[in-house]
Amino acid sequence: MTLAAVARSLRAAGVDVRYDEPLSDHTTFRVGGPADGYCEPQSIPELVEAVRLCRAQAFPLFVLGAGSNILFPDDGHRGVVICTKSIRGVAASSTGLDVAAGEPLSSALAAAEEWGSRSLGFLAGIPGTVGGAVATNAGIPGRAMSDVIESVSIIDPANQSAELAPRECGFGYRTSRIRDRRLVVVSAKLRFDHEIYDPAVLLARRRTTQPIGQASAGCVFRNPPGGSAGALIDQAGLKGFTVGRAQVSEKHANFIVNLGGATSAEICKLIDIVRQKVYKTYQVSLDLEVEVVAG
Ligand SMILES: Cc1cc2nc3c(=O)[nH]c(=O)nc-3n(C[C@H](O)[C@H](O)[C@H](O)COP(=O)(O)OP(=O)(O)OC[C@H]3O[C@@H](n4cnc5c(N)ncnc54)[C@H](O)[C@@H]3O)c2cc1C
Repeated sequence: MTLAAVARSLRAAGVDVRYDEPLSDHTTFRVGGPADGYCEPQSIPELVEAVRLCRAQAFPLFVLGAGSNILFPDDGHRGVVICTKSIRGVAASSTGLDVAAGEPLSSALAAAEEWGSRSLGFLAGIPGTVGGAVATNAGIPGRAMSDVIESVSIIDPANQSAELAPRECGFGYRTSRIRDRRLVVVSAKLRFDHEIYDPAVLLARRRTTQPIGQASAGCVFRNPPGGSAGALIDQAGLKGFTVGRAQVSEKHANFIVNLGGATSAEICKLIDIVRQKVYKTYQVSLDLEVEVVAG
């Protein structure tokens, strides 16, 4: 099946497709070559239809949110990238929210505050969408999406819609069965509880400790059990270490920043150097938190 045929079906379903779209325009790393096809469904029915059409024609698809946890290769993506960022909508009540996949976490947090709940305050400063945050089980030490999810509406690999309870989502530390099995999150129900997080305090802490304003994808590595990846990288003397235009942040050693014009290859090389040096120095293998998409 050719891209032109897939694009024709998508356009017939009302979903516009762009060719050779630079993924660097859609990721917070500002890195990534062209996607053969790229679309932004405007509603949940359009998302369901776009996923169904790509799969029906056995065409490779990648579902992207805000692109804040991802490193695409320099040669881009062979297939269609379906970006959810235009799929918005929050239905709120006094007990929780029903949020569309493309809604930014910041607006879910704001909607919760309007209803008098600060229990989503822990999401302050995480620049993702609700769908991406569910798939990655985003959070901070002590609190993650899995703590507030009541249910998740998905499209499964057979294009069936289903509502998953938290125990069916296989949540772990910055991971989920949703991500592993490439299920597509359409929306999520989040519940309020009595855990209170002050967004202003968390944002101030981020400003002090993280390279806010520089292009990055957040923490590159997961913390090893009982430890801190950032502290190990810092103690290994790698803060500020640079490959081309990619640099281990001088502010937070678990961030790699794009100084402007970095390539995916440079970032991958820097990731390898950091891993090797930390392993050589501390015999600790660092696992990736950022998703590195194969070229
Ligand atoms: C400055 C900065 C700070 C950060 N701080 C944190 C932090 O404190 N805690 C934290 O956990 N993360 C943090 N991150 C990482 C990132 O913001 C989160 O992982 C976020 O939840 C990713 O959401 P996204 O929409 O950008 O997902 P993307 O990066 O677009 O995608 C990530 C993964 O989710 C999948 N995905 C996206 N949408 C869907 C969907 N609708 N259905 C199924 N799968 C989907 C993608 O296929 C991909 O596998 C930070 C990033 C930055 C740049």
